[in-house]
Amino acid sequence: MNQELRLRQEALNSISQGVLITDAQRRTTYMNDAFEKITGYPKDELMGGSCAVLQGVETDPETIKELRNALNKGHSFQAEILNYRKNGTPFWNELSITPVRDSEGNLTQFVGVQRDISEQKAATEKIEHLAYYDPLTDLPNRRLFMDRLNHAFSSSQRSSREGAVLFIDLDNFKGINDTFGHNVGDFVIQQTAKRLESCMRVGDTIARLGGDEFVVVLEALSEQRFEAAKQVSVIGKKILTVLSQPYQLNKQEWHGTSSIGAVLFSDHEESAEELLKRADIAMFRSKNAGHNMLTFFNHEMQNVLLERATIEREMRAALESRQFLLYYQIQVDSMHHILGAEALIRWQHPLRGLLSPAHFIPSAEEVGLILPIGQWVMETACIQLKAWEQRVLTHDLVLSVNVSANEFRQADFVEQVKTLLQRYDINPRLLKLELTESVLLESIDETIILMNALKRIGVSFSLDDFGTGYSSLQYLKRLPIDQLKIDQIFVHNIATDISDKVIVRTIVVMAQSLNIKVIAEGVETEEQQQLLLDSGCTQYQGYLFGKPMPIEQFEELLKQGEKR
Ligand code: C2E
Ligand code: CA
Ligand code: CA
Repeated sequence: MNQELRLRQEALNSISQGVLITDAQRRTTYMNDAFEKITGYPKDELMGGSCAVLQGVETDPETIKELRNALNKGHSFQAEILNYRKNGTPFWNELSITPVRDSEGNLTQFVGVQRDISEQKAATEKIEHLAYYDPLTDLPNRRLFMDRLNHAFSSSQRSSREGAVLFIDLDNFKGINDTFGHNVGDFVIQQTAKRLESCMRVGDTIARLGGDEFVVVLEALSEQRFEAAKQVSVIGKKILTVLSQPYQLNKQEWHGTSSIGAVLFSDHEESAEELLKRADIAMFRSKNAGHNMLTFFNHEMQNVLLERATIEREMRAALESRQFLLYYQIQVDSMHHILGAEALIRWQHPLRGLLSPAHFIPSAEEVGLILPIGQWVMETACIQLKAWEQRVLTHDLVLSVNVSANEFRQADFVEQVKTLLQRYDINPRLLKLELTESVLLESIDETIILMNALKRIGVSFSLDDFGTGYSSLQYLKRLPIDQLKIDQIFVHNIATDISDKVIVRTIVVMAQSLNIKVIAEGVETEEQQQLLLDSGCTQYQGYLFGKPMPIEQFEELLKQGEKR
């Protein structure tokens, strides 16, 4: 071998790209070390033969055809091509072949340079996959979903067959994350994805939008709107059923349900975005109507939603510009001694006037604004308690504050109350929290822990609207409650309905045996008060003694009470 040739070979062997040289008939005449390393073929095996052995089952035949054509014409060729090593494993080859001609222009050789780009290719694919698929469930993500929805939408337009979007949301999923941690939450989401897949027909798309929100596109339903709706109902019911099967967690079972909203493509007037929004609205309706159901979108819902958006905006503004007020309703005993008051929120709306809580608390709960509103209530109540504590007349008044489920279940609720009591330096015994049965029973063990933590601070509890919920004695025994508040519906009928009289009597006896005090709300007449007293109930709240009123009026009322 002459000097120059050896130098050239060494140079070729030192580069990391594979180099393969063939004669004009494409028989291998040379390959460098890197080529051997990449393909696993020893030099002597390919020498004199064709390198078509690198092709395999999944090598794209089109690319091979293009390659042959180019080389037959003596052109150069570049492509990314799937090749196979000697041991059968595939790799992505970035291939570049250049023809070499002699001084007369005759084609004498082809020089092929190749690079194994499998890792790069895998990384790119992974990135592309992540852009379109949810990593937790491997379902399409929102982006891919919108893509598919748009397709489904236009193909339904062409075929005039109906399509539908289902919006699926797990009920009480937040509780899982809070109670069992995020790993368990992830597990439930993955299980849900699998279950949903089991309900689908080929061609239907399921996607995860995020959190516990899933969406489904159903295509090629009946041309008849009514029939199509029936088909959607059947699939929806199937989904509700599979999602209400217990989930097997580490040591426990979790019983979940879901809420579904559905919308048909129908008149094709809306965009895909709008369809998704409507399915979402209908889903909300299912949630509000008590979970575990399917609701179809209708136009009425749209108005409700617009209204809700307005009220949400207005409530935020109300918090900032101090439009919320606390009204106070007096509580007395049978001797007309003043025991304290219940704080009841009002909204002094700039346009709509004074609004009662029924007009905004439900929306506040839904959009999460109940938390800042509740904090405002608690703080205002504390400021009032401090003011009362400093005067002899009002020194011992107890103030009751309504606390809804969402407020009570905040991770730092106990801390919040503690902080306020300390900040305003208040005797905790003067603060009473009113909870309803549904709050208490939601997850009873956790509730008891929370309540006990607050009791240790000195705060007391009243069980609001008593008699309208489960009213199980079993539960009552376990809960550290100080007071039962007999719901106004029993008080209202006590004079006329014999069974209500019996109920009131039973509640009082039961409470006495558990050493719990009883107050009746909604007392409007002397007769009602007398009958309550006969039944053993000695504490009252109601229009008979005073309506809920602004603090100035309330303090007037206190002064009059003192004079009597
Ligand atoms: P609630 O806790 O059961 O409050 C008692 C409701 O009965 C009050 O309605 C009160 O005005 C009304 N009421 C009192 N005495 C009588 C009476 O003699 N006859 C009749 N017919 N009604 C009487 P309001 O103020 O409209 O409050 C409604 C509900 O809003 C409350 O029911 C409570 O669940 C909720 N709420 C009020 N303030 C707050 C608050 O600050 N936070 C939260 N989370 N909820 C609140
Ligand atoms: Ca109450
Ligand atoms: Ca009540």
